[in-house]
Amino acid sequence: MNIAIIAHDSKKELMVQFCIAYCRVLSQHNLIATGTTGKMVAEATGLSIQRFLSGTHGGDQQIAARIACNEIDLLLFFRDPISAKPHEPNELNLLRLCDVHNIPVATNIATAEVLIHGLERGDLDWRNIVNPKA
Ligand code: PGA
Repeated sequence: MNIAIIAHDSKKELMVQFCIAYCRVLSQHNLIATGTTGKMVAEATGLSIQRFLSGTHGGDQQIAARIACNEIDLLLFFRDPISAKPHEPNELNLLRLCDVHNIPVATNIATAEVLIHGLERGDLDWRNIVNPKA
């Protein structure tokens, strides 16, 4: 499956720790990420990650374009709920597009844990029917 990973600056270290913890599960899937998040996770885990532009330069919109085409099967997006981001409208659009296509999305680590366990258990296998090329 295609898994997209994005983390705001204050959540990047948490995302790194999450990906270390679930490295084995994640290694069985295609990973894509915004630039800095992808770099940090790849360096910490050795996972192969296709990196897009950084979020501030439109990396989140590159991922949104793939979500719009229903090509992403799971989005892990650790948001900073406290400080406003200049590209926040793009991020709301990203979440909206997930809802358009019923793409499972986690915006915090608690939900991400549930989804990753579900992924491992096969709960998201229906995505292979929706997106057979993945
Ligand atoms: P980044 O982008 O991984 O390139 O920092 C994420 C973000 O939108 O902050």
